[in-house]
Amino acid sequence: MRGEEHERNDSAGRSGNSPPPDALDPPGQIPTDDVAEATADRSMAAAEEAVALGHGSPQARADVADMAGQRRHEDRRQVWISHHEARRAMVEELRRQGVRDERVLSVMGDVPRERFVPSELAEQAHDPEPLPIGAGQTISAPDVVAMMAATLELGDDDRVLEVGTGSGYAAAVLSRLAGEVISVEYHDELARSARSTLAELGYDNVEVRVGDGSQGAADRAPFDAISVTAMAQDDLPQALVDQLAPGGVLVCPTGHGRSGQLLRLRDGRRESLGPVGFVPLVTDAR
Ligand code: SAH
Repeated sequence: MRGEEHERNDSAGRSGNSPPPDALDPPGQIPTDDVAEATADRSMAAAEEAVALGHGSPQARADVADMAGQRRHEDRRQVWISHHEARRAMVEELRRQGVRDERVLSVMGDVPRERFVPSELAEQAHDPEPLPIGAGQTISAPDVVAMMAATLELGDDDRVLEVGTGSGYAAAVLSRLAGEVISVEYHDELARSARSTLAELGYDNVEVRVGDGSQGAADRAPFDAISVTAMAQDDLPQALVDQLAPGGVLVCPTGHGRSGQLLRLRDGRRESLGPVGFVPLVTDAR
C-alpha cells in the first residue's frame, strides 16, 4: 500500500504541466483551442469532452489522457488519505474508550476496514458502529472487535478459531496478532466475499470455512483462542469448550434475542465482560 502510494507521488510529480499551445494547435485541424484552453485552466471535463468530440492533436490528446490519469491518481490518493485519517481517529477513539492493548491498537490502525464493508459504505467504515454487510449480517463495531481481540491475549504462534467470519475484518485483525486463524461462516456468500477480500489484501494465514461454526473445527483443534462473533442463544456451545486448549481463552456472547452478555472462559472459569448486542448464532445441531 505504501509503496504504491510513493509510485503515485512520483508519477504525479513527473507530469504536472499543461502542454505548450503550439503542441495543441497543428495547422489544418479543426478547433483545438477548446482543448488548449480547457487543459490550460485544468478544466478537465471540458478538455475531455473536446477530445471525445475528436478535437485536438495527438499530443493534446495524450496530454489530456495524462492529466485525466493524474487526476484519477490524485482522487485515489485523497480517498486513501481520508481512510487513513479515519482509521487514526478510530484508534484514538478506542484509546479514549479505554482500549489499552497496544498490539491491538496498532493492528487496527493498519487493517483497511473500508475494504471489508460494501463500497457504498466505505466512508462510514471507521464510524463507531456496526454496518450491514449483506445476508442480514453486520460487521461488528470497532470497539467490540478491539475488546474481543484484546481479551484473547494472543501470542504470535497461537491458533485461533473464529466463529462468524462475516466480512472477514475481525479475522484479518486476529491474523496479525496470532499465527493462524480458522474462521467459520454460516452464509456461503459472505464466506466467499470475505475469502476474496482477505486474499486480495494478503491475509494468507486465515482459512475461511463454510458451515455451522458452533461445531467448531475438530480437525484443527485444539485452539489457543476461540472468538465467537454471534450470540449463542442459551449457553456456550459445548463443542467449542471441548476444542479449547488448556489455558486457552474462549469469548462468546450469550443471551436471548440480540441482547446478552459477553462471556470469557479460561481454565474452566467464566467471567462476564459486560452487556453486548450481536446477531444470533444459528445452529444446525437441533
Ligand atoms: N466477525 C464479523 C462479524 C460477524 S457478524 C466481522 O468482522 O465482520 C456474525 C456472523 O456470524 C454473521 O456473518 C453470521 O452469518 C455468522 N454466523 C451466525 N451463526 C453462525 C454459525 N453457527 N456458524 C458460523 N457463522 C455463523
